Amino acid sequence: MDTHTQYDSVNRIKEAIPNMPKIHESADVIDELVPKRLELASILQKTLEPEELINLFAQELGRHIPFDGLTYNFAPLDIAIELGRITQHNCSYELLITEEKQGHINLHRDSQFQERELAIAENMLAGLLYPLRNTLLYQLALQSATTDPLTGVKNRTAMDTSIKREFRLANRQNSPLSFILLDLDHFKLVNDRFGHLIGDQVLREVAKVAEETIRDSDIIFRYGGEEFLILLSGTKISGATLLAERVRNNIENLQLFPDLKMRVTASMGVVSMKKDEDAESMFKRADSALYTAKNRGRNQVMIDDSV
Ligand code: GH3
Ligand code: MG
Ligand code: MG
Repeated sequence: MDTHTQYDSVNRIKEAIPNMPKIHESADVIDELVPKRLELASILQKTLEPEELINLFAQELGRHIPFDGLTYNFAPLDIAIELGRITQHNCSYELLITEEKQGHINLHRDSQFQERELAIAENMLAGLLYPLRNTLLYQLALQSATTDPLTGVKNRTAMDTSIKREFRLANRQNSPLSFILLDLDHFKLVNDRFGHLIGDQVLREVAKVAEETIRDSDIIFRYGGEEFLILLSGTKISGATLLAERVRNNIENLQLFPDLKMRVTASMGVVSMKKDEDAESMFKRADSALYTAKNRGRNQVMIDDSV
């Protein structure tokens, strides 16, 4: 959509803003601003969920200034929230606390914002800064506790939580659920021949290509040294097998260190949830299918479709 920016440059909301707006100063609104900000602060303290926080903020802002849409983005956590409509007039703000980026917020409206309204908006945005920072710090800590530092994919802690959640959902909605268990072939030899650092790089490349191959709704976890689990919600065995085959093929065709003439392959076990089956039983079946794939010569996908 073709949007018109009301200001040439992005406005910056910084912590340095005192109890009055700096960018659009308007003396008559200042008296009303302080209580609004205090009220806002206490409302925003209720949550550490970015989506909920931005929603609460938008609700409060809407009580003081009419607007048609609001977007908020914070790239490091892949946060992109869009509320309402994207319209012709757009006020863009970069949120900063001592030069530390807290994301971008955009306000949209069919008609231009008045100076007085901007003064109010900016004052309220200043009130959003610290609750927002708390939320982002919490989410970043959560992310690092659930991310594998080597490959950047989810770790075992995240896997346990996700499996529990996906089992609950699958049972409640009576929807299919599949696992792909992936283990690199003869990975010890890669380390022995080329060294641990190269081995680490191979793990990163494998995780990357697998992640690029799966769909947005699928999640990949590194649950062991060179072992990965792909969790496919809403997916039957046929779909899971096709995807596993695609991942296997993409790993086999990775161009890794051409000078070293290195080739890496993976074996996989694929299973779908049986009626009333628990995660442990599914994991065992996948592991045993994987074991069969290894025994049959590696670089292949084995399915356990027993019912
Ligand atoms: P198989 O085909 O039977 O799976 O053989 P394999 O050599 O892959 O199996 P094994 O389980 O015996 O060896 C796994 C190897 O993975 C051993 C270990 O050195 C390596 N490994 C595990 N974690 C890491 C890691 O973080 N970095 C590197 N470079 N190597 C790792
Ligand atoms: Mg292994
Ligand atoms: Mg292995």
